[in-house]
Amino acid sequence: MALRVEIDNLQKATEKLIKRLFTEGVVDAIADVLDENVIGFSPSGHYYSRGSWEVKRFLQGEYERLAPCNISKIRSRQFVREGQLSIESHVIMTSLQQRKLLLLNITTMYRMVPDGFMINGVNMALDYDRERTYKVLTERAVSDLDFLASYDGATGLLNREAFCSRAADMMTDYPDKSFDILRINIERFKVINEVFGEQQGDKLLNYIAGFLKSIDLELCLSARLYADNFVMCFEAVEGEAERLIYTMQIVANSFEISHHTVLTFGLYHVDDKSIPVKTMIERANMALNQAKGNHVTPYFVYDNKMRDQMLLEQQIVNEFDAALEHGGFKLFLQPKYDLETEQIMGSEALVRWIKADGSYVLPSLFIPVLEKNGSVYAVDRFIWEETCKCLRRWIDAGKNVKPVSVNVSRIDLYDPELVNVLVGLTAKYKIPKYLLELEITESAYTDDPRMIMGVTEKLQSEGFLILMDDFGSGYSSLNMLKDIHIDILKLDMEFLRSTDQTGRGGNILSAMVQMARSLNIHTIAEGVETRDQANFLKSIGCNWVQGYFFSQPITVEEFEKLI
Ligand code: C2E
Ligand code: MG
Ligand code: MG
Repeated sequence: MALRVEIDNLQKATEKLIKRLFTEGVVDAIADVLDENVIGFSPSGHYYSRGSWEVKRFLQGEYERLAPCNISKIRSRQFVREGQLSIESHVIMTSLQQRKLLLLNITTMYRMVPDGFMINGVNMALDYDRERTYKVLTERAVSDLDFLASYDGATGLLNREAFCSRAADMMTDYPDKSFDILRINIERFKVINEVFGEQQGDKLLNYIAGFLKSIDLELCLSARLYADNFVMCFEAVEGEAERLIYTMQIVANSFEISHHTVLTFGLYHVDDKSIPVKTMIERANMALNQAKGNHVTPYFVYDNKMRDQMLLEQQIVNEFDAALEHGGFKLFLQPKYDLETEQIMGSEALVRWIKADGSYVLPSLFIPVLEKNGSVYAVDRFIWEETCKCLRRWIDAGKNVKPVSVNVSRIDLYDPELVNVLVGLTAKYKIPKYLLELEITESAYTDDPRMIMGVTEKLQSEGFLILMDDFGSGYSSLNMLKDIHIDILKLDMEFLRSTDQTGRGGNILSAMVQMARSLNIHTIAEGVETRDQANFLKSIGCNWVQGYFFSQPITVEEFEKLI
């Protein structure tokens, strides 16, 4: 009897025969279409059978050796070689009997007969290349289900759960050895996906997975955790981590796209095997986070300070909502002085977090954390509104009102509603816009200059003045000032501190002020702590100052007494 199908359906029909053989033990369906002179090769490769009767027995034997089986994937292709029509099928299945994940390559060769096709050859072979990948896996196989749940479908690496349990086993099995956990992340993977397409992104993931699989270390596990996050666990041998990192960086760089693919790494030397592997992975991640965006060192090693920092950040995030709701945040003002007259010409609004016990948390501690989790916007809006309330009160009291500058976090600039919110606030409190000045930190400009310029121009056209904060702290050059339109330049205090006035630092500062003047930009120096500094700033033509020498940031009540 022949297999009565059209040639186009031969592939599907073959897959069906394979499925029925391994999952149901139906040998007859194949036996029926075996050619009289068929030849069969067994997976072990040492054994072959000839003739339909022998081949049927061989197939039966294969089934009995492996059953029950569960096929998780079959992928086939059809080809003709030297006049021989064949279907080659890659089969991924688990054998419960052998407690193993099997990768089989089955080639089914056909002969065309008047009413269809007959099988004249069957070759089953273990896919050794790929089998190696699963070696660690198969050795520890527990059950069929466990198995299929153990690896990541996209890359064929272990998944998180499997990695955690296997790494824990490995560490217990080798109590005398020490281990490293290495986390790997692709820098700006999202951009790669967006610019080159998801297909390229997937390809890159597989490219890296391919390298991880090829690592031939005695004790080594690798996995994909999620997205572009990979992890490895290997025996801590002197120089091994560095070697791996170095090689991986080269491998990533050689990926086909016209983009400099950079990997970042975080390493945790397992110094305490009793903690869960999950925690070890987190520790490696803390180190990785330090490496992100850091182009000088794409690789950091975990230490306990990182954990303290993380705990602190966690605490800030946990306590934030309640603090905002229950008045934990307060507006402070730091006066700014005119260097000519030494009179107050304005102030900067600075947030203070006051805890229930009266202690302060400094903004430099919590603002970066809130920027990370997106909550900074809530604090900023609160401070802007408090500032507007003050301005309104002073106007109503008939005071000679001076502008107050508020800080606009870099995160706020990405909010499409930003302009509306600020315009809305000034409208609500009926405040002339020039009284609410906006400080944007220099480093925001270097992050994404075009976007920032778009936003600042919109704000300026509404009537707000823009200050560039912390100038000199980042990487922007003096030349940048020509291209962007800002109204006031704030010179960074750190810069001032490292200035020995007479030397190079003083010259640079003076060049900055001159450049700003020639562009009609006013300058204010912040962090002025001594009379000498103030005198020097005055001598080079700086307009205003802000700093402890004149006043600390103070409460609104104290500030009102001053003016
Ligand atoms: P900044 O905007 O550059 O603010 C100036 C910082 O310098 C303030 O620190 C101020 O207290 C401090 N300072 C002023 N004079 C001196 C001085 O003479 N010597 C020294 N050593 N420091 C001086 P603060 O209040 O701790 O704020 C730190 C940073 O946190 C601010 O830097 C700003 O970037 C951010 N920040 C503060 N309030 C807010 C806010 O409401 N929203 C946002 N997004 N960021 C804020
Ligand atoms: Mg500021
Ligand atoms: Mg500043």
